[in-house]
Amino acid sequence: MKPKIIGITTYVESWHVQLALAKKLKQLLPSAMIVAGGHCATFCYRDMLRGGVFDCAIAGEGEEAFVQLCDYYIKGQGELKQVNNLIYRENDDIIVNERKRIVDIEALPFPDRNVLELDKYSYAFTLSTSRGCPGRCIFCSSHAFWGNKVIIRSPKNIIDEIDAVYQQFKLTDFFVIDDTFTLIPKRTIEFCDLLNELGEKYNVSFKWGCESRADVVTEEVLAKMKQAGCVMVQFGMESGNDEILKSIKKNITYSQLYTAVTLAHKVGLKMNVSIILGHHLDTKETIEETISKGKDMKEKFGANVLFSINTPYPGTELRESIDKFDLELLFTEVSKLRINIPSFRSKLISEREVNQYFVEAQYISSYLIPN
Ligand code: SF4
Repeated sequence: MKPKIIGITTYVESWHVQLALAKKLKQLLPSAMIVAGGHCATFCYRDMLRGGVFDCAIAGEGEEAFVQLCDYYIKGQGELKQVNNLIYRENDDIIVNERKRIVDIEALPFPDRNVLELDKYSYAFTLSTSRGCPGRCIFCSSHAFWGNKVIIRSPKNIIDEIDAVYQQFKLTDFFVIDDTFTLIPKRTIEFCDLLNELGEKYNVSFKWGCESRADVVTEEVLAKMKQAGCVMVQFGMESGNDEILKSIKKNITYSQLYTAVTLAHKVGLKMNVSIILGHHLDTKETIEETISKGKDMKEKFGANVLFSINTPYPGTELRESIDKFDLELLFTEVSKLRINIPSFRSKLISEREVNQYFVEAQYISSYLIPN
């Protein structure tokens, strides 16, 4: 293909693979510009650009920045300093251009799924219907990645994409990858009504799943979702202890979570409930309380309970203020971070004990994919 410019999405867990790929590409195509995007590019660009393999990085949303960068590099139009979200080297300096959000996300074309080998993916069809989350959970980088505002697509625009994908690939199963799909009940209900209409038009049943928050669902919304083919919803429980929930700024109580799970179970939805062990104020007692409540979720509601170990990812308040939380990082290399390995030391519980609890909790852990 001899591409002039190559973009690679970067994630912490698979960073070593992306780096190896970029190095290989640089050997094979020395004159091609290699651009990093995604989470690592947004929060770890200094290390990335100093390594010399990546020529530049795009922080946050990349659609507009990448087009502008192509115009500059391939057509010779514009200037690098005018490309919003771009981070690049200039002599020994790293230049960080202004970050801007894409306000009109409906103006973006639908992803070109023709370029993917869809049968190789567990979720052949994922759908992004909004960008951002109003939450400020300290272990999550969503806010730092997307910014303050949640930008949403209209139900009609989402349905147009589902329609286009159905016409082209005959795919009926999808997963909504938004941080909180059900944020606006009215939008969720309208989406469900339109999806039912689309199903009637083609005489097919759509089957889908999404992530939600316990404080933005009602029985009416959950029942509508079930009726429109939703088979699975994921809730972040994070902890079973209200003091811990408050300290991590989850802004949801255990009782709210319990109510949401009860309602989802009542209308017939399956659930994933995600739980984090080893929050900065966690003790043996709070972790045992959390595991016991996680067990309840499985036994009473048949929920799939997913445990992980608290991990200070770049871009999270947890990592940025690790001293404030009285924690000590066990290693600084971001590429070593894993959700099943302790990565910091707390004065309230040892990392060995957190790990033991995590291993013990695996006997109730399972994950459900919506197909
Ligand atoms: S964990 Fe979920 S609810 Fe909390 S900030 Fe992140 S995306 Fe939002």
